[in-house]
Amino acid sequence: MQQRKITLSESEIPDQWYNIVADMPNRPLPPLHPGTREPIGPDALAPLFPEELIKQEVSTERWIDIPDEVRNIYSLWRPTPMYRAYGLEKALDTPARIYYKYEGVSPSGSHKPNTAVAQAYYNKAAGVKRITTETGAGQWGSALSFACQHFGLECEVYMVRLSYEHKPYRKVMMNTWGATVYPSPSDRTEAGRKVLAKDPDTTGSLGIAISEAVERAATDPDTKYALGSVLNHVLLHQTIIGQEALLQMEKAGELPDVVIAPFGGGSNFAGIAFPFLRLSLTQGKQIRCVASEPASCPKLTRGQFRYDFGDTVGMTPLLPMYTLGHNFVPAPIHAGGLRYHGAGVIVSQLLKDGLIEARAHDNLEVFEAGIAFARAEGIIPAPEAAHGIATAIREAERCKEAGEDKVILINLCGHGNFDMKAYQDYFAGKIESHELTTAEIESSLAELDTPLA
Ligand SMILES: *Cc1c(COP(=O)(O)O)cnc(C)c1O
Repeated sequence: MQQRKITLSESEIPDQWYNIVADMPNRPLPPLHPGTREPIGPDALAPLFPEELIKQEVSTERWIDIPDEVRNIYSLWRPTPMYRAYGLEKALDTPARIYYKYEGVSPSGSHKPNTAVAQAYYNKAAGVKRITTETGAGQWGSALSFACQHFGLECEVYMVRLSYEHKPYRKVMMNTWGATVYPSPSDRTEAGRKVLAKDPDTTGSLGIAISEAVERAATDPDTKYALGSVLNHVLLHQTIIGQEALLQMEKAGELPDVVIAPFGGGSNFAGIAFPFLRLSLTQGKQIRCVASEPASCPKLTRGQFRYDFGDTVGMTPLLPMYTLGHNFVPAPIHAGGLRYHGAGVIVSQLLKDGLIEARAHDNLEVFEAGIAFARAEGIIPAPEAAHGIATAIREAERCKEAGEDKVILINLCGHGNFDMKAYQDYFAGKIESHELTTAEIESSLAELDTPLA
């Protein structure tokens, strides 16, 4: 029998996260204060995050210990399996060997609990009562609801209106874990009211929802805020994925030539890629790491590297990143988790330095890839995850043309069992190509008066 599944035992759950900042040739530029535009220190983050997470945010230590309590909860679903994609290889008739790491086995169905659990743990330890957050596709809100429930924390979620309407079951899932969910923009915050006054029918965006959740935390001493992507500490927690994947690849007797992951703010990409990128940065290996983004929200492939806000209203520090401009509202594609205007600062710096790559995919190509994968491998991928599959299929097809037996590793960051509306729309012929013009991108960027990085 072919070996399809590469598993690890519970005792092999890694006990440290990997901080790539220690090995970067150029470290990220400092964040700037949104008002004064001077570099800010870690203190500026204190109203929003507990001290331990701020320490991780600015840490330059290579390895950071995972607390036992966090590892214990991880063991509910970790180590996650890795599979050899024999079915997909056959369907594509490619000489490439394709593997995927499957994060959909977590309680909420994606990679997000890897950081949600860690963030809830550090907040609980700091005596915090309530955590606010935003959610796009509902994946992050569900993960944080699950994690908060575990530690007895209240959880308040601002859900992008488009997803709130399209994904009622995601909301019920959050309610089941005890969270309260509001459609964003809401009338509960000044940020939300401001946007609603300008555009009452808005479908919302992650940037707006972030503004709402941040405002709530900034104005209540018992409340902190949690972000599901972009920030350094979030990327750090996700490296558990790549640390496991390294061990699994070793067991399979392989080293990937290319590691591929979908890209929203960068956390699942960083999570799988950074432990492999470490081998390129420190041991002379040549492992390509490729981020996959939607053509309708192409910050990595068509955005600009400059300082920008993380949210829409301009409350967060200015971060040096690839961005389409914080007022950019992407087309309402189903991959809600990828509808974000910017990218994490670490990933942005790595892209600027040519150490990672990015590809953009049209909506139709993404669904074709997702369906091909479901038919060949069984698992129905989340529309976000299907972006990574689309990149992998392009790579595998290139291998076929060139007769190359490269090893491709995909991060299958979540299942699509709550995304049947998206697949339904595809089968009904309602998914359309969306052409984003250069003029649209330029006009969004032209609104920025922030410094170039
Ligand atoms: C949130 C999410 C993403 C995008 O966020 P990243 O931080 O870039 O990983 C991608 N896929 C799934 C399934 C998600 O839940």
